Amino acid sequence: MMEFDTVIHSGTIVTADGQFSGDIGISQGRIAAVAEKLSGGETRIDAGGRLVLPGGIEAHAHIAQESSAGVMTADDYLSGSISAAFGGNSSFIPFAAQQRGQSIDDVIATYDARGARSVLDYSYHLIVSDPTEEVLHDQLPRAFARGITSFKVFMTYDLMNLGDGGMLDILEVARHHGAITMVHAENNDMVKWMNRRLADKGLSAPKYHAISRPQLAEEEAINRAIQLAKLVDAPLFIVHVSTAGGAEIVRREKFNGAKLFAETCPQYLALTRDDLDRAGMEGAKYICSPPLRGADTQDALWKHVAMGTFESVSSDHAPYRADDTGKFLNGRDVAYPAIANGMPGIAARLPYLFSEGVVKGRITPEQFVALSSTNAAKTFGCSTKGRIAPGMDADIAIWNPQVTRTVVQADQHDNMDYTPFEGMELTGVPEVVMNRGATIVSHGTLMAQEGQGRFFARAAVDLRGKAGFTAPEFDPAQNFGTQLR
Ligand SMILES: [Zn+2]
Repeated sequence: MMEFDTVIHSGTIVTADGQFSGDIGISQGRIAAVAEKLSGGETRIDAGGRLVLPGGIEAHAHIAQESSAGVMTADDYLSGSISAAFGGNSSFIPFAAQQRGQSIDDVIATYDARGARSVLDYSYHLIVSDPTEEVLHDQLPRAFARGITSFKVFMTYDLMNLGDGGMLDILEVARHHGAITMVHAENNDMVKWMNRRLADKGLSAPKYHAISRPQLAEEEAINRAIQLAKLVDAPLFIVHVSTAGGAEIVRREKFNGAKLFAETCPQYLALTRDDLDRAGMEGAKYICSPPLRGADTQDALWKHVAMGTFESVSSDHAPYRADDTGKFLNGRDVAYPAIANGMPGIAARLPYLFSEGVVKGRITPEQFVALSSTNAAKTFGCSTKGRIAPGMDADIAIWNPQVTRTVVQADQHDNMDYTPFEGMELTGVPEVVMNRGATIVSHGTLMAQEGQGRFFARAAVDLRGKAGFTAPEFDPAQNFGTQLR
């Protein structure tokens, strides 16, 4: 008979493709068996009446990261991972951001020191802001070899924006190594032009942030990013899609074979630009980029979530407190461009998606698993995570689908002083969360020790089912027999 450290029994196991009642046997941090009935186990966890899911993988979070303007997030790898764990996550992939002039090796060493405090398993997406020849051909390949197989570029912000040529360079290098390029897609000049127009008219309140970054700026940049990626047939991941038009472009280009992936975030489904118009400087809490849109956008994005336009719903947790360490680092009565961009949400992401998605009947429990964990594992090469199957890491979340709670800041367990989801009534609670077989959260109590999370190396992006695109100019049959690759 097989010996198990832990057996989770009598629950309804949900995977991305189905659900069944059964037991899970865990041995040495991995799932050793999944069967109708399993006996034994030093610890037996009764999951009767509960859903047993792969633990969430948070694929978009800013943790212990300085913004390009030099503002440090309120959460480090300890508080950020604890907050994520209370929200049903077993692992996460925050960003490791290169400052201009900094080597990638130095970036990774910096984040290795920061990541050591994590209670969750973790990896990083590199943010590349300075793609020198050495970075492209020497340092990035070393990062891939260490299992860091994704990185993000910006089409906006003067200190981050690489220009189209810089993006092509990155996309080509990434394709060559089997890595995926993530992109923040907003047209930088459209935003700057709008900022000038608003400033000329003396319009500086937080609500004007929503006006300053037009929907067209996102739609144009999403389309441009996709065409750049298609030119070199490189995989591309569009982060935080916030517009119906942007989602529509993603859907169409996926259908045309682009190696394309995308996500949206709870704030674009749950909140609107009206939140930026709250009294006084309250609206500053709702400043993020791209900005919150209208109620019609929420409806459209939910339809795209349900029809599969997005691989993931990620938090884009960007925790800047509503005080002089964060939002108001430049002072309280400042114009909206001087207020830090971003909002927290790493603990609220999955309870929100479960309640508004599964409980309200917009998505199935299977889709919830795909959107919260399995797809992120495939896209970002987390080969031992995101599925309940023998041999996989025992990263598991046991959800009680019946319990209803009101979101309050204290339950987020982060270092923030607000949550934008305050007061929402959400049904469904992750009661037990495991990372490699160790219970890290149990019924509202933290069980994890600082630093018990481990860095995990990732594999190449999974491109099965993506036909790809050959631009005629790269096709020897159509370009006078020229080899350009
Ligand atoms: Zn972000």
